[in-house]
Amino acid sequence: MLQKAMPEAPKALSVEGTVVENNDKALKFIEDVTINADEVQKRVLSKILSRSADTEYLRRNGLNGCTDRGTFKKVMPVITYEDLKPDIERIANGDTSQILCSHPISEFLTSSGTSAGERKLMPTIDEELERRLFLYSLLMPVMSQFVPGLDKGKGMYFLFVKSEAKTPGGLVARPVLTSYYKSSYFKNKPNDPYTNYTSPNETILCLDSYQSMYSQLLCGLCQNEKVVRVGAVFASGFIRAIHFLQKHWGLLCNDIRTGTIDPKITDPYVREAVSKILKPNPKLADFVEAECSNGSWKGIITRLWPNTKYIDVIVTGTMSQYIPALDYYSNSLPLVCTMYASSECYFGINLDPLCKPSEVSYTLIPTMAYFEFLPVTRENELISTISEPTTLNDEEKQQLVDLVDVKLGQEYELVVTTYAGLYRYRVGDILRVSGFKNNSPQFNFICRKNVVLSIDSDKTDEVELQNAVKNAANQLGQFEASLVEYTSYADTSATPGHYVLYWELSVKDANSIPPSVFENFCFTVEESLHSVYRQGRVSDKSIGPLEIRVVENGTFDMLMDFALTQGASINQYKTPRCVKYAPIIELLNSRVISSYFSQKYPRWSPGQKQWCTQN
Ligand code: AMP
Repeated sequence: MLQKAMPEAPKALSVEGTVVENNDKALKFIEDVTINADEVQKRVLSKILSRSADTEYLRRNGLNGCTDRGTFKKVMPVITYEDLKPDIERIANGDTSQILCSHPISEFLTSSGTSAGERKLMPTIDEELERRLFLYSLLMPVMSQFVPGLDKGKGMYFLFVKSEAKTPGGLVARPVLTSYYKSSYFKNKPNDPYTNYTSPNETILCLDSYQSMYSQLLCGLCQNEKVVRVGAVFASGFIRAIHFLQKHWGLLCNDIRTGTIDPKITDPYVREAVSKILKPNPKLADFVEAECSNGSWKGIITRLWPNTKYIDVIVTGTMSQYIPALDYYSNSLPLVCTMYASSECYFGINLDPLCKPSEVSYTLIPTMAYFEFLPVTRENELISTISEPTTLNDEEKQQLVDLVDVKLGQEYELVVTTYAGLYRYRVGDILRVSGFKNNSPQFNFICRKNVVLSIDSDKTDEVELQNAVKNAANQLGQFEASLVEYTSYADTSATPGHYVLYWELSVKDANSIPPSVFENFCFTVEESLHSVYRQGRVSDKSIGPLEIRVVENGTFDMLMDFALTQGASINQYKTPRCVKYAPIIELLNSRVISSYFSQKYPRWSPGQKQWCTQN
């Protein structure tokens, strides 16, 4: 029975049966694999290792064809992206031998995690797409247990593709969702009531973000009565759509009234697809106009799309900063986080999707990959770093535990072994065990290791921030000034959000530094940040210009005094390089002398820096 429930390369559940039959099949699958989690994991590992026994990587590490857990754990190192980089570069440069995986690498998925300022490149194979699709096919059966009637209406999802590049060896490199939306699986979706979206494929596949957003909103508004759920991948993307509507509802209403598409929408495929949906509808135009111009945007989602039952967006991790805004715009509709996934591998799903955002837990699906867990201990919350070495010695390696052996309440870093050729790879996410579904643990997402700043999919760690600030602060010397202390804050009070740096300076003459110099410092910091940040600024426009706020002398001493009153130890106190706690932000803001914004866009182009320079 389990054999049947765990196909080698899972196909999305059949759509041939009735909705109820398919839902039951999916739920039964979840039941089976969570009961037999350990057995499934053992088989997944054995399958991966036997398939890839002849790969250079497994041979190099001396696995010698063994497929058992014991030998695997003894022999194989626990690694990070940096360890794998030379192999990845060979693949990117065109080496097609079996380096990491026995199956041909079909493309690279570009992660929002970066290495040396560039997106990490995750090799993938064709069948992984089916595995990802399979996880998607479990979501609606789970959701339908809690919200009836979802098969009767439409979903308004704001989905986007990003630009892709080619590696010197000719492999495509693009984000995982772009790869999925461009695949025939997505484009030729069968007539499934759960993938009935308001956005035609052409609007999603349009690379121009303005045209894509405009046309998706237009189609969503035209079908407003039919919409039963709305969403985007991350909360930031959904907020961006609302902000876009705030700016462009006049044009959208005009199109709805006349049944014609604004001339700024020039993509012929988009125009044709939209024209099949858009019909002159003055009544709807009046309604949208009345709602959008009434002054308050509170509850705008439920007003314009009155049958919406929930918002499907990820609000766990750094995305939790958007919860208050989503509550405001939706009159507190349920916020539903359905899944936890990455470019490396799709991990798991939320089996209790109507729970509060703060209680979301993900059940890792044991067929997706082989999972291990490295226990972590956290230092003081204010510092918010994770103390653990980057390279693990033998003793530390022994601490890794299997999926069914994790302990309730304990925090772990996720380590995966995938079908696509990652072995004991540290994903960098910290998870806490919150409970169990049968024998499978469920996890709260705690944080991405070391990430201090994030607005959209950008993930900036302390070292990147430090280097970028240093590059700018180095220029203070010529003004007989220096940077005494700094911290940062991801300000999402307006859309798009932006990075704020609080700088305390030691300066002889405060007037000796003209504003244009500070504006240039902002620009230098932006230029020094990684490519995901610069892409967000330049291409996606999902991040606003970076701001430096100069604070009065003594501000950082006050910050330390504050931390001490909160129980920090004076011996251990370090200035937090990022602040999130409202009283601290208030304190910093109350001491601001002047503030400056970057006036230029940093450099950005698709692909990796070294590929661009090769061309
Ligand atoms: P990427 O490699 O760009 O696809 O980003 C994957 C990362 O996004 C994961 O490793 C997590 O850090 C984060 N992420 C993905 N899904 C979730 C989720 N449901 N909640 C919080 N963070 C998530």
